[in-house]
Amino acid sequence: MTLPHDPHRQAALRRFSRRKLLGALGVAGAGVVLAACGDGTNEGVVSVDPADQANATDATETGVEQAQAQAELSVGLETEPLIWVEPREVLQGSSFLIAIDAPGAGFASVAFAGEVLSMRQEESRFFAVLGLDALTPVGPIPLIISVADGAGNPVVSRETLIDVQDSEWQTEVVELDDDNRALLDPNVIREDEETRGPFLRGQSAERFWTELFDLPVEGVITSGYGLLRSYNFRPPTEYHGGMDFAGASGDTIVAPAPGRVLWGGQTLRRGVGLLIDHGAGIVSGYYHMSDFAVQPGDFVQPGQFIGRVGATGLSTGPHLHWEIVVHGVTVNPVQWIRVSDFPDPAQDFEPINALPTPIRVQTQS
Ligand SMILES: [Zn+2]
Repeated sequence: MTLPHDPHRQAALRRFSRRKLLGALGVAGAGVVLAACGDGTNEGVVSVDPADQANATDATETGVEQAQAQAELSVGLETEPLIWVEPREVLQGSSFLIAIDAPGAGFASVAFAGEVLSMRQEESRFFAVLGLDALTPVGPIPLIISVADGAGNPVVSRETLIDVQDSEWQTEVVELDDDNRALLDPNVIREDEETRGPFLRGQSAERFWTELFDLPVEGVITSGYGLLRSYNFRPPTEYHGGMDFAGASGDTIVAPAPGRVLWGGQTLRRGVGLLIDHGAGIVSGYYHMSDFAVQPGDFVQPGQFIGRVGATGLSTGPHLHWEIVVHGVTVNPVQWIRVSDFPDPAQDFEPINALPTPIRVQTQS
């Protein structure tokens, strides 16, 4: 019988989470020491060495039970995993989905553009939504997917290329008065980024959205995402990171999808703003508002009143500037509204559209 505080079990759990971490870091072979840390109780120690492995099957009574418990964990995968990247055409400024069907898998991660993300698991489906900013260079970017079995052993690795296509952004001239022009100062931009930055990656691994988003206001779209902004006819120095809806001061803004309010506040650049975490890396932002009606920690439902249109911050008149951020990258909101055919992370995909068979990894067990 395994006691809740059995030290062998604790050690086994530590090994299990180390292997999970290995999966997150890509794929490591037997006995590879990725890092070392002097504190033996620290979960962050990620050395995997064969002696450590042998400890799992030591001959004490508890050790035998532990070995049996380990054997009950799924070792290897039940079937070859299928991996999809959808949509297959990926544009500058776009979001895209990595989906994996891998019965028996316990963990999956994706490495892309210098970052490693744990994929969200929903039954036997793993997924991650990734985003590209509007100025991502056109051309191929490598993407590496790693899958570990239920015992945490890395079993499959797949590398593919995301071939980023040109979105051919237009340039928009915006004429600013002196007050607004002062808000282009780098210190003002820094204040804005430092205030909102800590919240832009979201906090919830759980996915709250189950369908594409409603629009947050009724109003004509006056500027789309990605427009290169020329202020007062100077060469463009930045792109428009959201979608502008014309409105009157006081017009109602509603939550476009379920989520938890992360931040409500004000910056010189974006005025009164709000950030909502929709989970699994997706955050929406609302700016230049006159005020907001919800507080950080509140869970909002689609259609719920969250604030009012205003003209605070760098604004030439009352409007809502709406942003969608994917794991910290500001992307085109068009893919997130109901007119889009952006894939649902849980939907069925055709096996024929999956990436070619992944590489099997030689495991240490
Ligand atoms: Zn805007």
